[in-house]
Amino acid sequence: MAAEEAERRGGVQVNAIHLKLGQLSGVVKDALLFSYEVACEGTPLKGSRLVIEEIPVVVYCPACQVETTLASLQQFCCGACEIPTSQVVRGQELEVVALEIE
Ligand SMILES: [Zn+2]
Repeated sequence: MAAEEAERRGGVQVNAIHLKLGQLSGVVKDALLFSYEVACEGTPLKGSRLVIEEIPVVVYCPACQVETTLASLQQFCCGACEIPTSQVVRGQELEVVALEIE
């Protein structure tokens, strides 16, 4: 995706890609960093850095009507009243937020 973006801008050199990675995205950060390097071989992105911002999981509690950050991925419940909730507000992101180009 980022390679396409670089191409659209006329084959510019990409220095870094900033990515938002939610803890629920199903992607492991280290695995992503590793596969990124491999995937960039032979593309305009070769030599660029992948900067990952990890997004904690935030759930909404209908009882308290507040959003709380999950303490543990094993416990999907409200941080205040501890009622189980499955209303995920954040944490599923896997998106490019910015490109650093020359
Ligand atoms: Zn609550």
